[in-house]
Amino acid sequence: LGDRLQGTLKKLRGQARLTEENISDAMREVRIALLEADVSLPVVKSFIGKVKAKAIGTDVSKSLNPGQMVIKIVQDELVELMGAANDALNLAQTPPAVILVAGLQGAGKTTTVGKLANLLKHREGKRVMVVSADVYRPAAILQLKTLAESIDVTYHPSSADQNPVDIVNGAKLAAKNAVMDVLIVDTAGRLHVDQQLMQEIKAVHAAANPVETLFVVDSMTGQDAVVSAKAFDEALPLTGVILTKTDGDARGGAALSIREVTGKPIKFLGIGEKIDGIEAFHPDRIASRILGMGDVMTLIEEAEQKVDKEKAEKLVKKLKKGKGFDLEDYRDQVAQMNNMGGIESLMGKLPGMGNLNLPAGAMGGVMGDMNKSVAIINSMTPKERQFPALIKGSRKKRIALGSGTQIQDVNKTLKQFTQMQKMMKKMGSKGKMMKMMRGMG
Ligand code: GDP
Ligand code: MG
Repeated sequence: LGDRLQGTLKKLRGQARLTEENISDAMREVRIALLEADVSLPVVKSFIGKVKAKAIGTDVSKSLNPGQMVIKIVQDELVELMGAANDALNLAQTPPAVILVAGLQGAGKTTTVGKLANLLKHREGKRVMVVSADVYRPAAILQLKTLAESIDVTYHPSSADQNPVDIVNGAKLAAKNAVMDVLIVDTAGRLHVDQQLMQEIKAVHAAANPVETLFVVDSMTGQDAVVSAKAFDEALPLTGVILTKTDGDARGGAALSIREVTGKPIKFLGIGEKIDGIEAFHPDRIASRILGMGDVMTLIEEAEQKVDKEKAEKLVKKLKKGKGFDLEDYRDQVAQMNNMGGIESLMGKLPGMGNLNLPAGAMGGVMGDMNKSVAIINSMTPKERQFPALIKGSRKKRIALGSGTQIQDVNKTLKQFTQMQKMMKKMGSKGKMMKMMRGMG
């Protein structure tokens, strides 16, 4: 997709001014990109209309070529549509500040309550209590209890024979008495939007009087997500949206449609089943993703959190420049890979890698014997790490001896490195779009 769009944009080179004619191919590609990203058709239409109106008649500035100009307009417009900046949670209220989550069954509400509680407690140092008002499924209450215990967050007990409104009132009182900063209320889902349960969530909302009312929605559910977003937005005064399971949906189109339908900010993305599988929403990144580019910013942020910042920046810079990937980079990466959720998740976020269609687990073999590889590379001289071709018979022997391994192990590490280097090269040549974009800041 990125490649095709890029080809179309190339044709625009040398045009001095954008016209209906010369942008029509590019607009068609943008339209396809949006539809492929699962943006709903009415949203696509109004979006293309806006972009066209902005683009036509624009003089192509000296610093950008026409293709870049179109992309910049599209990108800016996407970002504007999704809300310019990431909206954090607003918890400024006499404690306990109540957060209510609502959404369809299976959307990821309970999981998200756990993730938010974990963030607020362990990153922001808040005193957090959670409670479940899901009285229809005892298993759902137990799920929250287990989750709360695993992250050491206060759990307020509730049971299936209670009334949801009573549960909320009881929890508020308990949170106040225990001097909690935040109370997060998990609610019952529903398979479809249904009147009775909608009445119930309204009553729960009234009792909770929350400062944040968050609609949790599964990004994979396509147009259904848009329908339920609309229904919940009409029933409740939503303050924000959390889009879950975006790890399974690389396209990001739901963000655009839901934002357009509700007008409410998307505050977080669910990016995995684990407790830390959540990240703040950045519209510029989703815009890039929708246009079929890699999510480099997210990669950098994750790297900053989990690995040595400088090293990661150096590597990303190097990769962006398409420069050589040497054994030192490989060693750093092997050593850090465990921390970063595995190589496949790392690769998926680099520009161009999404298009490679690696079979699941394809990289598993490359990652074998990580510790051995690190030891082997440590036994090399800096020059050998930079120019692996130097490593022949006698050097191999010395390295094996130094690292307490066999020559076969050295060969294996070198072979794995070569495979990885090839991947990096492939990525470099597919990452041209990023090069083009970089000048636009
Ligand atoms: P609820 O019915 O809305 O409370 O949904 P749950 O929290 O029980 O989640 C339903 C399923 O979705 C569970 O299997 C979760 O592990 C899974 N899930 C929730 N959020 C995410 C996410 O961001 N990514 C992935 N891959 N799975 C998620
Ligand atoms: Mg639940």
